Amino acid sequence: MKQPLTWQGWASRVSLYVREGKKLLGLPRFPIRIGEFAEDYSKQHFPRDPITMIKGQDFKGKFEGALVPNESKDEWAIIYDTGHLSKGRVNFTLAHEFGHYLAHRHLSGEPFYCSRKEMWAWGSDYARMEVEANSFAAFVLMPPDDFRDQTKDFRKPSLQDFEVLRDRYDISLTAAVLNWLKTTKTRAMLVVGRDGFIDWSWGSETLYSSGVFFRARQITTPMPDDSLAVLGPTADITEIQHPPGVWNEFEPVFESVLFAEYHEMTLSLLIYPSVGGGRRPYNSDQRLGEGTSELSEESV
Ligand SMILES: [Zn+2]
Repeated sequence: MKQPLTWQGWASRVSLYVREGKKLLGLPRFPIRIGEFAEDYSKQHFPRDPITMIKGQDFKGKFEGALVPNESKDEWAIIYDTGHLSKGRVNFTLAHEFGHYLAHRHLSGEPFYCSRKEMWAWGSDYARMEVEANSFAAFVLMPPDDFRDQTKDFRKPSLQDFEVLRDRYDISLTAAVLNWLKTTKTRAMLVVGRDGFIDWSWGSETLYSSGVFFRARQITTPMPDDSLAVLGPTADITEIQHPPGVWNEFEPVFESVLFAEYHEMTLSLLIYPSVGGGRRPYNSDQRLGEGTSELSEESV
């Protein structure tokens, strides 16, 4: 059979292989665990340069995973950082590296070392191959037909709703939320905070095109004082409907939080009203929260 030339081609091929294989064996379709079949799959399809090792090692959080050839490039290893507690992150990382193996290993000839920031930088200036490896991983682990079905009733979801998906697909909560944000018409955003500041954020297309987004990390943006993310786990609340003036000067925002995903970080899922943004007179100096806030949102 002819080999696919794109990540999309590989993603559909692998997805089908897993679905049919599990059906034959009488196993449930989910979760799909890359570590269970990547080596065999590579040996069947590429006997001349298969994956011969999948191994955890402690990299102290320097990166999530790597795809590394041996010297003669006839064997490959996928290595992942054991420093992370979440099993789901490992599964997604393995899928990401497997995507590099199938779609990119001939192109680069170099080992791939993939860090969290690069892996999650969908749509930004980071390398196209990182985006493709993520898209491959998302497609294989959260097949679009099933994901659509699971999220079709999400009107105003909280992070707790995504915990069900995290368990179903054996991925991180972040991966599930980002996958939803890529396709939803809901005006929504995931904000990852570190030490009270926004580390990075990702909004749905509908939200972005209505003029609401946080600037990339070249400037420091504090999280709003009244956000659940800043109040911390002691507040014992995981979701709240904020009035205008907390996350957004003009709009009420529904926030749900999670503190446990990464040790030092907070996740906030923000849901904005379905109509808003764009036509409002947003001005590019708009400030958020207390006077110390840097420019946080701006019109497009
Ligand atoms: Zn990568």
